[in-house]
Amino acid sequence: MTKHHQFDAIIVGGGGAGLEAALHASKSANVAVVTKLYPTRSHTGTAQGGIAAALGNMEPDSWEWHMYDTVKGGDYLVDQDAAEILARDAIDAIIELEHMGLPFDRTPDGKIEQRRFGGHTANFGEKAVMRACKAADRTGHMILQTLYQQCIKNKVNFFNEYFVTDIIVEDNVCRGVVAINVADSEVHLFHAKAVLIASGGFGKMFKVTSNAHTLTGDPVAAYYRRGLPLEDMEFFQFHPTGIYKLGILLSEAARGEGAIFINDKGERFMERYMPTLKDLAPRDICSRCIYEEVRAGRGIGGKDYVYMDFRPGTINKFKSGPGGRDVTREHLEKALPDILEFARVYMGIDPMKDPVPIQPTAHYAMGGIPTDADGRALADNTNVVTGLYAAGECACVSVHGANRLGTNSLVDLVVFGRRGGKAMADFCKPAGFAPLPITAAADTIAEFDRIRAGRGSERAAAIRADLQNMMTNYVGVFRNGPDMQKAVEGVRELKARFKNIKTDDTGKIFNTDVLETFELGCLLDLAEVTAAAALRRTETRGGHAREDFQERDDANWLNHSMAYRADDKRDAAVTRCDIRFENKPVTITKFQPKERKY
Ligand SMILES: Cc1cc2nc3c(=O)[nH]c(=O)nc-3n(C[C@H](O)[C@H](O)[C@H](O)COP(=O)(O)OP(=O)(O)OC[C@H]3O[C@@H](n4cnc5c(N)ncnc54)[C@H](O)[C@@H]3O)c2cc1C
Repeated sequence: MTKHHQFDAIIVGGGGAGLEAALHASKSANVAVVTKLYPTRSHTGTAQGGIAAALGNMEPDSWEWHMYDTVKGGDYLVDQDAAEILARDAIDAIIELEHMGLPFDRTPDGKIEQRRFGGHTANFGEKAVMRACKAADRTGHMILQTLYQQCIKNKVNFFNEYFVTDIIVEDNVCRGVVAINVADSEVHLFHAKAVLIASGGFGKMFKVTSNAHTLTGDPVAAYYRRGLPLEDMEFFQFHPTGIYKLGILLSEAARGEGAIFINDKGERFMERYMPTLKDLAPRDICSRCIYEEVRAGRGIGGKDYVYMDFRPGTINKFKSGPGGRDVTREHLEKALPDILEFARVYMGIDPMKDPVPIQPTAHYAMGGIPTDADGRALADNTNVVTGLYAAGECACVSVHGANRLGTNSLVDLVVFGRRGGKAMADFCKPAGFAPLPITAAADTIAEFDRIRAGRGSERAAAIRADLQNMMTNYVGVFRNGPDMQKAVEGVRELKARFKNIKTDDTGKIFNTDVLETFELGCLLDLAEVTAAAALRRTETRGGHAREDFQERDDANWLNHSMAYRADDKRDAAVTRCDIRFENKPVTITKFQPKERKY
């Protein structure tokens, strides 16, 4: 039996973006959050390093510098009107979080303390600036706890461990979502005037990734399957400092506090590549430099990794501490407790005594559901889908362009989560409920029945492993045409194998076997778009570095890409589908594209 619910506004996802939107929407609308994870288990809780805002508490700073850094960091693919909102509103959004009780670190005179992060500079690129507000290296955790408490206080309704499978859109009007209750596999229809998608990233398409197990982008795939476009999917960020082989993140906060990269010869190699910012250059650049060192045979022991060196002796020798000051072990233990603990637990290395092996790890989706600056989801380059919104990592506003700066995601969540939440509440006031189609849940029921009944010869785990290997090998830090072609064709073969799936657990109680198989179908769709969009873009820009097209090509490619399913009749996730691409112009206001040097 399908169960029905009705709320003014439904938010899909209980991470930072979802909770921020829920909190603001709930000031005037009846709101429910539908989330496959318990809210405080969302990936936002793992964000370590910080949240950017030009408060200027430590040294002079301004929102214009923050905006400039964001645009330049994104290799000029950023929509500058949105970046201006991000940088301006960040200041007020941080103060709002502070007033809600978020326990930020403090300076001795009681102001919010800030630290350096990659690509954030003073005076339009002159030197690194302290802009990241933080609560030790548990910033995301504190944001999530603070927002969740506020949502409870504001009487937001929560459907925790409800898995959204589909977005109901008819005649370009959003009418709600379909969800499965994880506990008993019952299908629930959520009828709403407005829906905001805040489902986070989808880094699980890669093998070496910092992303949590659940980051599979199901609602983003649902959007795409509805014939709606995904923007800039070729731009995926590889963070330079994943723990070797595991991909678990050691935050850039480490380098903000002075840690540096070292190659096999003991050289601080970033001095050669980026003389001004060195180890604090943006992530796409650092990741490429690491692989350049590896290719030149200067990886540790000739292997495919380098060291990150946290030892106070090294930091003080290279004068890489904040403001060139010496650091102590006590300071690092206080500023980076979780990061140091991760190295100890996962590598068995004490970073105070030995350097830590690191390699780039898939980290952040710059692309996703296209939106305007009020979170309204776009049906094409100009028109919105009535009543549908998106915010956070699943959305593409676009403030991150071709490469996101560290600490700019958390600020994106609060700034655009808040704007999206307010906009949907305003929309709900005069709006009525558009009727639900009778067949709203039919696709979900058919797909889950198919998966549960699957008696083929293919296992989801094996297909997922093949997908992740392929994406890491062929659509990674360095890319080239023939390899990406292999990825596009490879994903299509995996989709064919996915039709022949075998499921072991046929029950209804906490059936993660079936849910993870459904998630795999979503990852396959998103990986196909990612690989195809990357193959199509014949230039190097930000996180998209091509060996066969090494230059940025503004004449032809200063455009966002918009990917549509060519066949927008909704057939099952498993069908081979062709993709149609279009370009969307980049909004340029203050900063003309220039060469990107640090
Ligand atoms: C290890 C790590 C460290 C990071 N550190 C930083 C940092 O220091 N600073 C910074 O700015 N950024 C950082 N980032 C990036 C940033 O944390 C994320 O981009 C951001 O937290 C994403 O927030 P979100 O609200 O969009 O999604 P998430 O926090 O990922 O939440 C997604 C929500 O969607 C729900 N959901 C997903 N699919 C479904 C479905 N099918 N049905 C129902 N619900 C669903 C989940 O239950 C979850 O509640 C880091 C990321 C990682 C992985």
